[in-house]
Amino acid sequence: MSPERSKLATVTDAVIVGAGPVGLFQVFELGLLGLRAEVIDSLPQIGGQCTELYPEKPIYDIPAVPVCTARELIERLAEQIRPFAAGMHLGQEVTRVERREDGRFAVETSRGTRFDAGSVIIAGGVGAFQSRRLAVPGAERHEGNRLHYRVKDQDVFRGRDLVILGGGDSALDWTLALTQSARSVVLVHRRAEFRAAPASVSRFFELRDAGKLDFLEGQVRAIIEADGELSGVHVSTPDGLTRAVALDHLLVFWGLHPKLGPIAEWGLNLNRKTISVDTARFQTNIPGIFAVGDINDYPGKKKLILSGFHETALAAFAVREHLRPGEKVHLQYTTTSPLLQRRLGVAEERAAAQSHPAVRTG
Ligand SMILES: Cc1cc2nc3c(=O)[nH]c(=O)nc-3n(C[C@H](O)[C@H](O)[C@H](O)COP(=O)(O)OP(=O)(O)OC[C@H]3O[C@@H](n4cnc5c(N)ncnc54)[C@H](O)[C@@H]3O)c2cc1C
Repeated sequence: MSPERSKLATVTDAVIVGAGPVGLFQVFELGLLGLRAEVIDSLPQIGGQCTELYPEKPIYDIPAVPVCTARELIERLAEQIRPFAAGMHLGQEVTRVERREDGRFAVETSRGTRFDAGSVIIAGGVGAFQSRRLAVPGAERHEGNRLHYRVKDQDVFRGRDLVILGGGDSALDWTLALTQSARSVVLVHRRAEFRAAPASVSRFFELRDAGKLDFLEGQVRAIIEADGELSGVHVSTPDGLTRAVALDHLLVFWGLHPKLGPIAEWGLNLNRKTISVDTARFQTNIPGIFAVGDINDYPGKKKLILSGFHETALAAFAVREHLRPGEKVHLQYTTTSPLLQRRLGVAEERAAAQSHPAVRTG
């Protein structure tokens, strides 16, 4: 790496690839051992599968939490790791991990964020979530201009003619929201049935019957361009016809699919789409690169949040040993260790509670 590039890199003990439940708890376990972490995720928010796939579903198998929704679990983890102030770098994929001659790692993301890390912990779950793309010739040329897979700024669509593709919650929610400010909205879906909240579906048909938006059952077969800009789509409909629909912007909400992506190119021993690790350190075949949570593989592996949490504790001790070989680390309890309580930022509270014990009555 050139000196200029290394100057820009954030120096850290560990880069955690993935901000799912396991990646988040890894921050906690490293923090207890006095190690700093930077967390990167391709999604714009933390929580991995919990937030992206089932935020409102109840989880019943987290120890000592009889029930909480997936969203609540992530909120509680975020609160629990707050004392360790890990850097969160969201909306960017880790594209490069390279072991340097000195044993440290050069890590880089799709947005050009750079890290100089003593270790890398891959908590990438089933891979980086990516939007399902419109697979018709030439479509990718218009991405970020007139073809969108996310809404970053609603104002872009004000007073415009929009075509929205999809039949799930995101497609319906955005159709309803953008109908208020767009000039026209046409929702295109391959069936006249939707996999979305019943209230959104009824509202959609109410607006359609009132002439506020349009619905076209069919599939996009090709894009239409005018002066190099995306200007419409050809949609084949169940009656066997192909209709041309003019547009200013095309929004595609076909959901997300996980892709192992660049992780597959870092020289790690893979078993199908998982990374082989040992069960004492959760280290991969590359010293200093560890893997925890759904992405790792070892005899008896179970893809459960509970198992991932256990793995983070052992991986943290192994990272500490990797960074400071030979230095003894004693197991300490958060209940009784002043050092851990200082790291957690609760030492003063505990001292105050002891010098002013609560008055007992009765
Ligand atoms: C519907 C459903 C219900 C479930 N219910 C339960 C349950 O009740 N109990 C239970 O224990 N488990 C349950 N699970 C499984 C549980 O959600 C997973 O075990 C857990 O999410 C794994 O956590 P993780 O942090 O390892 O990975 P994930 O949650 O998958 O997070 C990984 C993150 O890494 C990111 N990432 C990957 N590659 C990159 C990269 N190169 N750059 C940047 N970011 C990257 C991804 O975007 C993702 O956000 C359920 C799963 C589903 C789908």
